[in-house]
Amino acid sequence: MTEFSELGLAAPLLKALTAAGYTTPTPIQTQAIPHLLKGHDLLGIAQTGTGKTAAFALPILHRLMGNPRPYERKTTRCLVLAPTRELAAQIAESFRTYGRQTSVRVALIFGGVPKGRQITSLANGVDVIVATPGRLLDLFGEGHVRLDRTEVLVLDEADHMLDLGFVIPIKRIARELPAVRQSLFFSATMPKEIAGLADQLLKDPVRVSVTPVATTAERIDQSVVFVNQSEKRAVLTRMLRAPDMGRTLVFARTKHGADRIVQHLAAAGLSANAIHGNKSQGQRERALADFKKGAVPVLVATDIAARGIDVDGVTHVINFDLPDVPEAYVHRIGRTARAGAAGRAISLCDDGERAQLRGIEKLIRARLPIAA
Ligand code: AMP
Repeated sequence: MTEFSELGLAAPLLKALTAAGYTTPTPIQTQAIPHLLKGHDLLGIAQTGTGKTAAFALPILHRLMGNPRPYERKTTRCLVLAPTRELAAQIAESFRTYGRQTSVRVALIFGGVPKGRQITSLANGVDVIVATPGRLLDLFGEGHVRLDRTEVLVLDEADHMLDLGFVIPIKRIARELPAVRQSLFFSATMPKEIAGLADQLLKDPVRVSVTPVATTAERIDQSVVFVNQSEKRAVLTRMLRAPDMGRTLVFARTKHGADRIVQHLAAAGLSANAIHGNKSQGQRERALADFKKGAVPVLVATDIAARGIDVDGVTHVINFDLPDVPEAYVHRIGRTARAGAAGRAISLCDDGERAQLRGIEKLIRARLPIAA
């Protein structure tokens, strides 16, 4: 098995990894890091949970440390684009964690909050900007950031960018970047539009693919419970009362549905928070923090809000509603069984959701066993 020390990373990075408790690299890290250290472009097919953030953050930090450059006002050396503020925040946190022995300056840029502090954070120049595309373009348009000194571009969760309508903003941003740069592109799935975007942005990329969607995370114990829609809340309440339930992520199809589940659980004496697009940034952050701390062990989320949620130790994912898009099932259950841990995923399926269930089973090429 490959060790981190064999990958060619600088000593301060190895120290930070030891401090973070990482002992062995994940497959995407083993496969991607050596190529990235050589400066190649990369097309990575990988979903959240595979260790992809470290797979790009470590070689980027290595590069930044190895070729110091004086800071220039409003510029960055590396630009990471992510679809949601939650994911952007987690990526920025990862850069800070892995870069703790270095003096890396990271700016986090996303919408929905005032611009003032973000503008200040960019003023003297940074090493890394982690941004959602919309707010970055706003700040660019207003002259608060320059992109012409960017050496490395990372596009994370490109397929989600497509879902959220970010392809045009991304192309717009890419036009402002130097043609000579290193570009990294990550996506869990490769629909045509995304393959086309990758073609435009990457030059002769190395391709790395881990846990392809069709094979799902094999460590996850998956099952289905057939139940009438009207009885789902009672069944969920019973499940959450079981003694072995740890940190549980419940997926609902709609924001309203998520709120109703939380209310129902509260009435049954179970504490839960909801996270979805109608919640303020503060509410979302608090809900996520409560969940991470274990203060509130149940988080009810919609698909979009849950994207990029990176919480270790999620023991159960419960699909209160089956997703309309089969790929979303794989994203959902990928929130458990992180970094080698085991996890369970239980789907509550009403008769009216049989077609979605068939779609999921086709995609993962397996029948979901009926829960005991
Ligand atoms: P990611 O796919 O980047 O969202 O990472 C998923 C989770 O795995 C994160 O919580 C990381 O902290 C963790 N992780 C990443 N690489 C390793 C590693 N080599 N060993 C242990 N945990 C890791």
